[in-house]
Amino acid sequence: MPVKSETPEATAGRILQETGFSGRLPVDVYEIAAQRNVRIIERLDLTDDLSGMLLREENLSNPVIVVRKGDARVRRRFTVAHELGHEVLHVGRTVLIEASTAQFRINERRSGGEIPSQWEEVQANRFAAELLMPEVLISELFDRNVVKTTSDDELIKSLAGDFDVSDSAMQYRLMNLGLMYPPFGNEITPTRSDRKASSKYSPRINGGRRRTG
Ligand SMILES: [Zn+2]
Repeated sequence: MPVKSETPEATAGRILQETGFSGRLPVDVYEIAAQRNVRIIERLDLTDDLSGMLLREENLSNPVIVVRKGDARVRRRFTVAHELGHEVLHVGRTVLIEASTAQFRINERRSGGEIPSQWEEVQANRFAAELLMPEVLISELFDRNVVKTTSDDELIKSLAGDFDVSDSAMQYRLMNLGLMYPPFGNEITPTRSDRKASSKYSPRINGGRRRTG
């Protein structure tokens, strides 16, 4: 049982530990799902506004995560990690549907599906980010790569490759960890106060390359 005050990041760290993560990258989310007896089903017929879902109905012996088969590998990995976040954090939800358009949300509500709340989405994303890109390893590889690369883009691509995530997922991760400044005119909300709660690591703040464009 998760401790109530546990942050999504701390929960992700605990899951990595419980499933025997050795520190070798990229993190194998499919193996983590298997160890938690969660089945992954990839389907081609998910519509454009539906990236995945978590099914935990009573007639299913194991929870099921459905991801869109046509998505790029890095996207599918993130979807699996995100749905695992719901599976671990949002106990009691039976059918969670990831929908991006209002129309879909309305239809799905009629058919008995549940749309996660915005708060649940934030939590699942924080869980997924730490699961796929553990802060301690980001810090380590950031230091190693920042001296070998000549631009932010190159650094992002290099780290995204190491962690097998999309460039944009890595960029957000670095910005959220205070390792990189957001591009001008595209400020994001810092999550410093959240991160104080998970004081397991000692993050460097703004140790990154400052954009000078
Ligand atoms: Zn979600």
